[in-house]
Amino acid sequence: MYEEELKALREENLLRRIVYRASSQGAIIRIGRRNYVNFSSNDYLGLSAHPRLVRAVRLAAVRYGAGAGASRLLAGGDALHRKLERMTASFKGTGAALLFNSGYAANTGIIPALADEPDVILSDELNHASIIDGCRLSHARTLVYRHRDMSELRRLARECGGRRRIVVTDTVFSMDGDVAPLMDICEICRETGSMLYLDDAHGTGVLGEGRGALARFGIAPEPWMVQVGTFSKALGSFGAFVAAGSEIIEWISNRARSFLFSTALPPPVVAASLEGLSIASEDTRLIEKLWERKRFLDDSLKTAGWRGAVSETPIVPLATSSVEEALRLSRFLLGKGFYVPAIRPPTVREPRLRITVTAAHEEEQIEALAEFLGNALRTRRTRTRKQGS
Ligand SMILES: *Cc1c(COP(=O)(O)O)cnc(C)c1O
Repeated sequence: MYEEELKALREENLLRRIVYRASSQGAIIRIGRRNYVNFSSNDYLGLSAHPRLVRAVRLAAVRYGAGAGASRLLAGGDALHRKLERMTASFKGTGAALLFNSGYAANTGIIPALADEPDVILSDELNHASIIDGCRLSHARTLVYRHRDMSELRRLARECGGRRRIVVTDTVFSMDGDVAPLMDICEICRETGSMLYLDDAHGTGVLGEGRGALARFGIAPEPWMVQVGTFSKALGSFGAFVAAGSEIIEWISNRARSFLFSTALPPPVVAASLEGLSIASEDTRLIEKLWERKRFLDDSLKTAGWRGAVSETPIVPLATSSVEEALRLSRFLLGKGFYVPAIRPPTVREPRLRITVTAAHEEEQIEALAEFLGNALRTRRTRTRKQGS
């Protein structure tokens, strides 16, 4: 029934395939019969298989069972859910916090709850797909501004009218690894009386000593700010949270459909999130190590000749000239034992390799990756020279 469509995808090199690991997530993963050094995960602190998280999962399953059995409003949550919400609010310095089943569920549920027909959403063009879908589900008018373009955002926020204005942005853009200019964004929100909605999925556990993007900029949370973050990336678990003032949280818990009409997170998952959050907040050495590795990757790539490879976070995109080149590079690296995925449309407009480095990587692994990438770069130069002559 979808033969034609699938064929078209295949011909454009855009057909994707699901990959199954035969090991836990980590710096080394096993796929099929081979081990790869893994530069594709968001497990920035290497917590997903950490003994403390695994132990917490086991204990929670014994005490509270495997499944939650109902939505939160029908007592699907237990003491672990309450503890995690309280801990999250205190970690983020907000009045309250609420759990969501995933970052995707948070954005698609909360944005429509906060913005209705008389309101206007101002959204960065490179925001995550779940934000885009949240905007689509909301009845508000959505205005998209050019990526990190503050003069356009200011102009739109001044002119757009609307009952409420909500600026919505990723803090760390997941495919480019750059950071939203939050100082300017906050100033624009203040000036135009707009709310601010931040998706801190890649900032949580990474920026601002783990506390997220606002902390990185030294900005204290205010009543007009709403922060979404996930437990599924640096914190090594699964699920998401929204942290804000208690009134906003109460409204969200009454209106967000992905909260109301979905079973609560399983207790073992919540226990893992609690443990991940504890580790990230107690042990800042782990986060320091992540940033050491990130600097080491930057330096190694520069030495290898990839001067264009710059980012402000552990996400480092390497632009390629085409989808084919991205795939070729990715396959070349795979052959050498490195898993570095090619990212292509529709995930991004411009194809690229996307490297994510974590605290679990050894310097030797990073160095080896950079060397192979340097070789690939030299082959590419020779190839283009030949084509040109
Ligand atoms: C990963 C991600 C999400 C989705 O979070 P999940 O918990 O994986 O559903 C949402 N927003 C951004 C910016 C992300 O990077």
